[in-house]
Amino acid sequence: MRRWTFRVLSLLVILIAIAFAAIWTIQIHPRHGSHPPLKLAKGTLAIEHARIYVSPNDPPIDDGTVLVRDGLIAAVGTSVQIPSDAVRIPCDHCIVTAGFWNGHVHLTEPKWSMANWKSAATLNPQLADMFLSRGFTTVIDLGSNPADTFSTRRRIEKGELTGPYIYSAGTGLYPPHGIPFYLKETLPRWILALMPQPETPDEATNIVRRNLGSGADVTKLFTGSWVERGHVLPMPVEIARAAVTESHLNGKLVFAHPSNLAGTKVAIDSGVDILAHAADDTRGVDAQLLQSAISKNMAMIPTLKMFTTTVTSDPHYMDPMRAEVGQFHQLGGTLIFGTDVGYMNDYSTETEFVELGKSNLDFKTVLAMLTVNPASRMGVSDAKGTVTPGKLADLTILSADPATDLTNFSRVQSVIRSGQLIWHR
Ligand SMILES: [Zn+2]
Repeated sequence: MRRWTFRVLSLLVILIAIAFAAIWTIQIHPRHGSHPPLKLAKGTLAIEHARIYVSPNDPPIDDGTVLVRDGLIAAVGTSVQIPSDAVRIPCDHCIVTAGFWNGHVHLTEPKWSMANWKSAATLNPQLADMFLSRGFTTVIDLGSNPADTFSTRRRIEKGELTGPYIYSAGTGLYPPHGIPFYLKETLPRWILALMPQPETPDEATNIVRRNLGSGADVTKLFTGSWVERGHVLPMPVEIARAAVTESHLNGKLVFAHPSNLAGTKVAIDSGVDILAHAADDTRGVDAQLLQSAISKNMAMIPTLKMFTTTVTSDPHYMDPMRAEVGQFHQLGGTLIFGTDVGYMNDYSTETEFVELGKSNLDFKTVLAMLTVNPASRMGVSDAKGTVTPGKLADLTILSADPATDLTNFSRVQSVIRSGQLIWHR
């Protein structure tokens, strides 16, 4: 009898250990590897009578046609022959641009947790609400639970879900004792304990190696972390440098959350590629500092709306940030569009376009931020960023012209990705 009890107990212990190991592997260190080959939609689409913005610098084509065949752009112009088998998309008062990018998103809201086991009926409306209805065909997740992002990404790429192409930073890296206060106040302790805060350069190297090895496409560093209200803790520069070196050795870009002067300096000195926000404490962030960032080819994602909605209701708080973004552009810096949705649960992009206008950015600059600039930085200019024959048919169709009003970039009518109409208002 005793022997049976012992056997049953042993079996139970083994089963519990297996269950824990499975949860650890699937939820905490998923190994989904890289992206599967892109699925291109079969068939022919013709978008007719549209105003087409081929690129930010080309004059628009009026009453033009975009012909899409088997997932790629086949022809663009005013005298395109439309084959008889083409599905025609009338576009009489609409605008066609290359598919938009959002360079700063997160899949951290509770509705994405256990995404691997959620149905398409649950996840597709969420993907449409957050991304497709805003015109995004490609997004960059700058830090979420990798299990949720990787499984959502994989299911989209396999065709189980309808969503944008997702790049992921996996898990972000924080300074030692450097978890931001707004995460400490909202996340459970067990998640906080898993957030990497490397204390040595070697530790940072190993974390980046593991993160990229498990399927991350880029690295995200908190070079300046708001550990308390009013207090930014910078990441030690040698730790940031180790993370950047390991990322670059793997051919991956590094994004940084700078927060203030010290955090921006660490980003510049360690060789970070893209600031994931404008610095919100702008004291000391002057033309000389921005120039040194630009001379190192660093780009910036302003995320201005996020500051207006989650940080302040003071109308003057934004003035120095708008000046910083405008000056960065004036000095020749590359800007990339991004909103920080997921951290911010209001997904509308309209206010971001209002804020970019207030930063003295014009239509061409904002179109470049949404298309060519991110495609170029992510090394996929040959496939994305302009409405050019031979490139992927990732297209955003608007119902009003953003050249006359930047907020028309938020009036999305349809979205085509890899040749498939994946969203329509
Ligand atoms: Zn963010």
